[in-house]
Amino acid sequence: MLARIAATCFNWAGSPHPRLEQAGFRRKAVAVARGRQQNLFGGDDPAGPAPWELAEQQDLLAAQIVFNLPAGDTWTYLVPDPLRDLIQPGQRVRAPFGRGNRMETGFCVAVGPPEDYSRRLKSIAEILDREPLAPPEMLELSRWIGERYLCSWGQVLNNVIPAAVRKQAGTRVVQSLQPSAEAPLLMQHLKLTPLQQRVMQVLEQAGRPLRIDELTEAAGCGTGPVTLLRQKGLIEALRERKSSHDLEQEEVAAVEDLQLNEDQAGALQQIQAVIESRAYRTILLHGVTGSGKTEIYIQAIREVVSYGRQAIVLVPEISLTPQTIRRFRSRFPRVAVLHSHLSPSERHWYWQQISRGEVQVVVGARSAVFAPTPHLGLIVIDEEHETTFKQDTTPRYHAREVARRRAEMEQIPLVLGTATPTLESWWRADQGEDLLVSLPRRVSSLPLPPVVIVDIRNDPQCSRGASIGRALENAMRTTLNVGGQVILFLNLRGFAPTLWCRACGESVRCPSCDITLTWHRDRQRSICHFCDYETGAITTCPSCGNAGIRYLGTGTQRLEEEVKAKFGGFRCLRMDSDSMRKPGSHDTALAAFGAGEVDILLGTQMIAKGLDFPNVTLVGVVDADTMLSQPDLRASERTFQLIAQVAGRTGRGDRGGRVFVQTSSPADPAILRAAEHDYLGFATAELRQRKEAEAPPFQVLARVIFRGELEPQVREGAKQVAGHLRQVAEEQKLAVRVLGPAPAPVARLRGMFRYHLQLSASELAPLQQLWNAAASGMPENSTFELTVDVDPVSMR
Ligand SMILES: [Zn+2]
Ligand SMILES: [Zn+2]
Repeated sequence: MLARIAATCFNWAGSPHPRLEQAGFRRKAVAVARGRQQNLFGGDDPAGPAPWELAEQQDLLAAQIVFNLPAGDTWTYLVPDPLRDLIQPGQRVRAPFGRGNRMETGFCVAVGPPEDYSRRLKSIAEILDREPLAPPEMLELSRWIGERYLCSWGQVLNNVIPAAVRKQAGTRVVQSLQPSAEAPLLMQHLKLTPLQQRVMQVLEQAGRPLRIDELTEAAGCGTGPVTLLRQKGLIEALRERKSSHDLEQEEVAAVEDLQLNEDQAGALQQIQAVIESRAYRTILLHGVTGSGKTEIYIQAIREVVSYGRQAIVLVPEISLTPQTIRRFRSRFPRVAVLHSHLSPSERHWYWQQISRGEVQVVVGARSAVFAPTPHLGLIVIDEEHETTFKQDTTPRYHAREVARRRAEMEQIPLVLGTATPTLESWWRADQGEDLLVSLPRRVSSLPLPPVVIVDIRNDPQCSRGASIGRALENAMRTTLNVGGQVILFLNLRGFAPTLWCRACGESVRCPSCDITLTWHRDRQRSICHFCDYETGAITTCPSCGNAGIRYLGTGTQRLEEEVKAKFGGFRCLRMDSDSMRKPGSHDTALAAFGAGEVDILLGTQMIAKGLDFPNVTLVGVVDADTMLSQPDLRASERTFQLIAQVAGRTGRGDRGGRVFVQTSSPADPAILRAAEHDYLGFATAELRQRKEAEAPPFQVLARVIFRGELEPQVREGAKQVAGHLRQVAEEQKLAVRVLGPAPAPVARLRGMFRYHLQLSASELAPLQQLWNAAASGMPENSTFELTVDVDPVSMR
């Protein structure tokens, strides 16, 4: 009996997945250490049969189950006899939970004999999936994420397995039917009823496989004749492959590998050496904008694919443009694209295809790091500095760190590509932990564009309320008059970002957030960009009732108006999330710009990255101060990144290019270094400051955020939690600093008051220890919610 279990199930005596074995039990040890009382809610059943009372106790089988609950424990359940041959780690099960034994869905993460025969256990009620939804590697990775980001294993699994996959995993595969190869021969020898003949006729005339419902409807019959024909061998069933998105994939002409220049070839060689070593290594590919990083990724992927392995390429959601996708599709026949606009059935379909190994390259946003590739050979993260790689809901993981862990588990290389590395990644490479590969020049030796810093404090036009100063305006005229194109960047959308009362000096805020409303003139609405609250035009001040509301500041809509007024003869196009709502509008707009039908392209982040148009000879950063003034430890880093990225949109053709950066802080080091294209200088100086300030990458941070409807309760709760954490840190002698609590920079959001506190330590381990140790005695209170964010990228 035991031998059979070992063969069919995962069993930790002779486990094929030693890492998983540890996984199941480390968490359980924690649960047991926390005391019996908690276990009562999970698998323990005081009324159930005691294992030692059961006759064949050596035959008992137990499963470790995790639930999508914040309490991060692993619960032990008995596997009843009828289910013991079916259960596998990675499947979902239904099991009674808590004192009331309500049925909860959880994931089975390990199976084996119960470790502790002295406990009475509840039994699993039902197994929901025929096949595991998560392979062993995914189980291990999700366990690690739970530990790394201080949330529960069950919460992670629930998030990484797409809802569509969970929902459809249990449903039957839809089949389509077609005449079998033997059908013509069989029809000569078998006597078919008229109805059966009709079915065969319909199938032959259809000229394509039909689903059973299509077939029965067209033939005007029930399923009976179809079943009989299948039994006789006249009809064969195919796995359903037709899917609306599947074949809508446009045909892309194959493109040969491009010739690499010397720098690129050298970089590719270094990556290939790591691929061939069949070992884990992270490579930071630091290449200036326009240095041809994508071509290097593609040729490295080609090598991996030639071994029959797959590659995952993560790009920021905003870069998942048709151009990017076409670029990969023209080089690899089987590419899957995972983005947030996929329908559930599309997501499910891709997931299946990927897990069958039918896809060579997965291109996708953050969550594509979980793509279930069977033989992964390489992970690439393009634009590694982008903040969208961090998830802002539980589990609050960073795709770069998950990719690092996954690459390590699978012993493969991870390539991080960027022109402006995060200081965390730069520091690691600089210390020799990761391999630094540099591309200091643009392809075909085009120079980086000269950057002019324009001080707008004394500009006569700006002091009269214009957004485009005299220098930028003159440069635009010169450029446009000789047929060049212009890109203007401003990262504020709407018309006016501030509605300000002249009488009392207050700004008009969203009724549920501590955020000023933005006036959108095209729609005649005042909108909160956080919660999407909207109302009409505001004429009287909500604070004092005065009628003197002024619409201050410049968003992209007002900028568009100014451009149109100043450059009447030229065509201008605005790209932001308001003007690009319709699917496909992004592609259409860029195509028009590429074809020269538009002279001035203005917009938000949407135009800051990836665009490559040789005729763009001028880029204007309308307001470099918007990023710099954020109350965020990374404000300088983001400003540098932004200017470098936007500047990278020009000087890509023979006609060269120029960049104008308007600012009222012309001496700021981030702006000065960006203007000199001096990443190294910026990173060195900024790292020195971070070290002095005890900020990342020299410290690990976690932010604890408290939210609730009543301000005093939230404040009080935050104080209690802070006190508890300080006490535990002191008792256990953990070197963790607890700062706060204080009102969060956005003190109210969606009607909830917010407080936060910050934990910092020189490494992650004491921080994790503190959080886990503090979990049991955490002040219980239903008047506020608490979330913890490890390595936060947003401080708001
Ligand atoms: Zn007022
Ligand atoms: Zn709001």
